[in-house]
Amino acid sequence: MKKSVIRKRSLGAAPFNRADIGGIIIDKDQPGQPHKGKVFAAIHAHLDDIPFYAAGLCAKLIGEGYTGYVLRTSNDEKRGGGTPAQNILSNEQEHIKMAEAVGFKEVFDLYYQNHEMDGISSLDLRGRIIFILRLIKADTVISFNPWGHGEENPDHWATGRAVEEAAWMCGIDTDFHEHLEAGIQPHPVLERYYFQARRGQPYNRVVDIGSHIEKKIASLVECKSQGGGNFGSQLRARLAKEGKRLPLLGNDDRTADREYVRQFLLEDEREAGREFGLEFAERFYYIDQRPPAKSKVDEYVERNAVPL
Ligand SMILES: [Zn+2]
Repeated sequence: MKKSVIRKRSLGAAPFNRADIGGIIIDKDQPGQPHKGKVFAAIHAHLDDIPFYAAGLCAKLIGEGYTGYVLRTSNDEKRGGGTPAQNILSNEQEHIKMAEAVGFKEVFDLYYQNHEMDGISSLDLRGRIIFILRLIKADTVISFNPWGHGEENPDHWATGRAVEEAAWMCGIDTDFHEHLEAGIQPHPVLERYYFQARRGQPYNRVVDIGSHIEKKIASLVECKSQGGGNFGSQLRARLAKEGKRLPLLGNDDRTADREYVRQFLLEDEREAGREFGLEFAERFYYIDQRPPAKSKVDEYVERNAVPL
């Protein structure tokens, strides 16, 4: 993203449909509860994806009235230092704690095999996500950019593509029509936030997460099987064996983990905020598909209709 093309816009400006046109919106805390009654689904593949890429945004939106749900697609069996079965359990338990730290209402886990999600049926994944989006009546999704550059992890892009397709399709009553028979109604998803998970991926929204950073840190310290949530206490223990201590890490493991995250694991957030004078920020490619209050046809009719 060339700095020279960046210009600030206010939230009241016309929304973008693509990241490669227009400028960048700086999204600050909004007073009151402007999103009251709305629902978002944060959909990631692994325990630590949402904490790293979007926990600040999720905490902000919940604070502004959204109800948030988190959905994890993989079983995380490859990360955690134990056997696959042990890793599945530790990641599952930490996922619940992570969700509580951010303020999500509920957790969904789909348990697809970790690092092998490019081999699963995209139709199966899409159908399951559509069911959940309809069930919770999601207005907004937060997930991976399905076409983002530099993505090495197949679980990320497989999840992102299924989410993009599901968000479009879940408002169409002829897709998965058996859901309707079961009383699950179509529900259009009209807003999307795609993570900037890798450098070079496009973004058009920089979210000020300064007032939500403690919740982001609280979510990251729950990511112990992966994500570095316990690196602080591990470092504290190692130094103690060597007869040393770091004042930064305090006098207990909880403080050590939190302060380690704050000091060493938030460099991307500091960099994202720096050029806009923000202490911490997260970047997203935001897509707004909400229809205008009045359609062009309605406007034309209003201006031009004559009595019979
Ligand atoms: Zn991941």
